Amino acid sequence: MEEISWELFERQVAACRRCPLYAHIQHKVPGQGDPHAPLMLIGEGPGQTEDEQGLAFVGAAGQLLTRMLSAIHLPRERVYICNIVKCRPPMNRVPAPEEAEACRIHLRMQTWLVRPRVILLLGATAARYTLDPNIRITRDRGKWVQRKGVWMMPTYHPSALLRDESKKPEAWADLQSLRDKLKELGLYTDLL
Ligand code: SF4
Repeated sequence: MEEISWELFERQVAACRRCPLYAHIQHKVPGQGDPHAPLMLIGEGPGQTEDEQGLAFVGAAGQLLTRMLSAIHLPRERVYICNIVKCRPPMNRVPAPEEAEACRIHLRMQTWLVRPRVILLLGATAARYTLDPNIRITRDRGKWVQRKGVWMMPTYHPSALLRDESKKPEAWADLQSLRDKLKELGLYTDLL
């Protein structure tokens, strides 16, 4: 069997037709960033701008995410950013369970390759398919869970913050908690 590598990951995502989402897209959006980042961010799926460019989190929500990371002095290029599904769902709908399940093989491979120590789950879809299907983001955001030695925390997706500014204080509290966790693990200065 071929050894797992970034080259294999990129090739498998590019060729993937495991669910119907590939049929509607302009580009696959595998994810990008530091391939050995201690911090990984997982969102839901690509939007229109991401689909056009083949890059994760480059639209309005992505720009807000970059500013959020800057607010705790984390350079975006030092983290790894990706989504639950690598193809844009039509009309930006939430990925269907069978689509998220089909794409899990890719997320598993990239998590294995990055080997992050901390994962920030952006929004309910990321949290449900990564941590627990019963998660409610308004109830469970900001709570740390450790799985197989990796610390994970759900928080709002930046697009939710664009829709509802009243969530920003909670999102800021989560960001500060993220910074504190990275400091606690001795990873914060590594990222600067
Ligand atoms: S969303 Fe994932 S599983 Fe579905 S076709 Fe795209 S890469 Fe494959």
